[in-house]
Amino acid sequence: MNIILMGLPGAGKGTQADQIVEKYNIPHISTGDMFRAAIQEGTELGIKAKAYMDQGALVPDEVTVGIVRERLSKSDCEKGFLLDGFPRTVPQAEALDELLADMDRQIEHVLNIEVEQDELVKRLTGRRICKVCGTSYHLQFNPPKVEGKCDKDGGELYQREDDNPETVKNRLEVNMTQTAPLLAFYNAKGVLANVDGQQDIDDVFKALDEILQKDGQ
Ligand SMILES: [Zn+2]
Repeated sequence: MNIILMGLPGAGKGTQADQIVEKYNIPHISTGDMFRAAIQEGTELGIKAKAYMDQGALVPDEVTVGIVRERLSKSDCEKGFLLDGFPRTVPQAEALDELLADMDRQIEHVLNIEVEQDELVKRLTGRRICKVCGTSYHLQFNPPKVEGKCDKDGGELYQREDDNPETVKNRLEVNMTQTAPLLAFYNAKGVLANVDGQQDIDDVFKALDEILQKDGQ
């Protein structure tokens, strides 16, 4: 079961990834974790990646793809994997296809969790943080007992600069623009499935699970 999970920030990818990897007993491979592990293990590619990151530069595709190749070659990926955050671009997707072909494998499912932009903005702008203790709340999902006040110490709650609607909208738009060609790429290959991410969390998982069960692996 070789899966890529896609979705914009706020679409609920993390929750769904947790459930998928638990049910199918495959590793959840996120870009961040992969880089951290390679750097920690001190692999040749990890050292290269770190050098770019320390300079604040983008890690070139050949290094990133090499790290992905090493990660997918590990024994815990034999039954499959769930990729999250990679690929980000069509050239990376093509490189992924090539490296999988070398292993006699291919991507079987690209699961895209779809949530409307207005809903994403609502989700992503709802965070409030206590000025005193830093506890994080969410107006929709985890509201404080008294509006605007921390449950623990009554401290005033504020919104981070990053969470304001303009910043959030910009971030989403950049993300959508980057993702569109990738979705088209996988759609053309017939492996893309769009799932409604505005249902209950459990129903989103049911929908994803149905897609994964369809070809009776
Ligand atoms: Zn507090």
